[in-house]
Amino acid sequence: MIIVVSGPGGVGKGTIVDAVVRRDPRLWLSRSWTTRERRPNEAADAYVFATTEEFEQRIADGGFLEWTEFLGNYYGTPTPDADDDRDIVLEIEVDGAQQVKRIEPDAVLIFVLPPSRDEQARRLRLRGDPNDKVLARVKKADEEEPVGRALADHVVVNDNLEDTIDEMLSIIESHRSAADRFAPTPGSMD
Ligand code: 5GP
Repeated sequence: MIIVVSGPGGVGKGTIVDAVVRRDPRLWLSRSWTTRERRPNEAADAYVFATTEEFEQRIADGGFLEWTEFLGNYYGTPTPDADDDRDIVLEIEVDGAQQVKRIEPDAVLIFVLPPSRDEQARRLRLRGDPNDKVLARVKKADEEEPVGRALADHVVVNDNLEDTIDEMLSIIESHRSAADRFAPTPGSMD
């Protein structure tokens, strides 16, 4: 199963997916590539931080499940390891989510929204984004929201972090149970 978590910058997607993956051992979080510069307080392994040349070479080699340009930088999901039988979680923006849905129509898309634009801007500032970046991301969020809502299987408002994490875990579990119900039982295909 592929679980796509999408939503505007500053909504708390990173914190949510980290917690969800920590609590559910049947999940793993894909690590994206980006050409964006690392933020001062950002973990060194938050992304594979690549140069434009490295990124474009990987595109040419067919090494991405999806990739896009977002506010002047490349972001992409490396092609997942087919041998890993855990469910994969992707934390990506809506253009990438659309690509994944096209390739894998069964992917489950959860779109996360902030309680308000003011709160989103406050969270972006708290993260250390400069004012011009905050404004660009809030504007981008206005464009992304209708597309994300239309594409989403589930829309979650991240008002209270713990509630959001619980909601995500139960959404994932419900899709897993549905998939198990439709999977053939051993011997039933004889
Ligand atoms: P940020 O610069 O804030 O880390 O990420 C900017 C946006 O890019 C966020 O919406 C984030 O979810 C998205 N993003 C991160 N990794 C990927 C990826 O591999 N593919 C796509 N399409 N978007 C990504």
